[in-house]
Amino acid sequence: LTAGTKCSGCGIVLQNESPDHPGYIPAQALERTPLLCQRCFRIRNYNESSTVTVDQSEFLRLLGQVGEQDALVIHIVDLFDFHGSVISGLQRFVGNNPVVLAVNKTDLLPKVTNWNKIRNWVQKEAKELGLKVEDIVLCSAKQNTGFDRLLDIVGSMRGDRDVYVVGATNVGKSTLINRLISDYSDLEEELTTSRYPGTTLDTVNIPLDDGHYIIDTPGIVYESRYTELVNKQDLAAIMPDKPLKPLVYQLNEGQSLFFGAMARFDFVQGGHQSFTFYLNNRLKIHRTKLERADELFANHAGVMLAPPVKADLDKLPAWTRHELRILKGKPTDIFISGLGWIKANSTDGALVAVHLPKGVKVMMRPSLI
Ligand code: GDP
Repeated sequence: LTAGTKCSGCGIVLQNESPDHPGYIPAQALERTPLLCQRCFRIRNYNESSTVTVDQSEFLRLLGQVGEQDALVIHIVDLFDFHGSVISGLQRFVGNNPVVLAVNKTDLLPKVTNWNKIRNWVQKEAKELGLKVEDIVLCSAKQNTGFDRLLDIVGSMRGDRDVYVVGATNVGKSTLINRLISDYSDLEEELTTSRYPGTTLDTVNIPLDDGHYIIDTPGIVYESRYTELVNKQDLAAIMPDKPLKPLVYQLNEGQSLFFGAMARFDFVQGGHQSFTFYLNNRLKIHRTKLERADELFANHAGVMLAPPVKADLDKLPAWTRHELRILKGKPTDIFISGLGWIKANSTDGALVAVHLPKGVKVMMRPSLI
């Protein structure tokens, strides 16, 4: 591959080292003409897009372009990892362009869920983060719900504009894009990705019939999400694939829980109370005394306390302890990006601590459920 060779679909500089990054072309595809990056090849031949990722600075550069155009933006986030997947700085970049917030993976919430409450919660949290959203659509790419509403909104708000789709990795963006491709493109015609004038082309541009495009931007990688730190196998252990079954634990102060060897929760101080755990139900919970927890981890992490298994645990950053004071008055979630959340049900307040690999985001938020 000659340095600087470009994809004839989207124009990005081709590379054959990193499958997850823009411009990837597998070695065997170098023989083909025209030369296409893997993403353009898949769109052209299988009518399907796949995820490509970029780091924060590259992503911000891309977003900067959005603000300079007249466009509609679909911001897709993962409801299971809302505060980990939301692009909180988006507002600065999109300028005055309208944003539709698509909140995906609704199928992961418990079967009985008050969706009005969820909607209000999303609205409030988005506002809190400084995001201005025209509309919120709760959807599930997996169950194919909410998409009709999203397509309707896009149809009515798009006007004479392009549509940008932005999101973090793993939020379901490809699934959504593939749905848009099949809805908007005439399958009998050859579907092509297309060069969009005036942009540096790390995007995939799906032509619409009126000369506009749906522009799929690469997924931004947030290293503060647990899901970005673990290998594929452990990813399946933490990322749920079916509705959560919340687990309620009645705890006394001085008790600790391990979630495999992914994280530890200590109830440091407070009256007897209950906590509800919204985590992948495949994670085994192990209860112990706080005073014994360090020793237990030292002796059993990666074996009795797993996943991750020992070898993988050693590849993760060392744990840090986050002490959190839950205030009196309203139900609070302790949110752990990529892993889920713990709801403190009591409104009496408590002092708790969470132990996690360094870098994984932990925060308190008003209860989602
Ligand atoms: P992208 O990285 O944002 O492009 O996301 P993908 O479309 O590749 O999906 C990432 C992961 O989330 C995959 O394992 C999907 O199966 C899963 N996923 C996507 N949409 C949904 C959804 O609505 N519900 C659930 N439970 N999983 C989903």
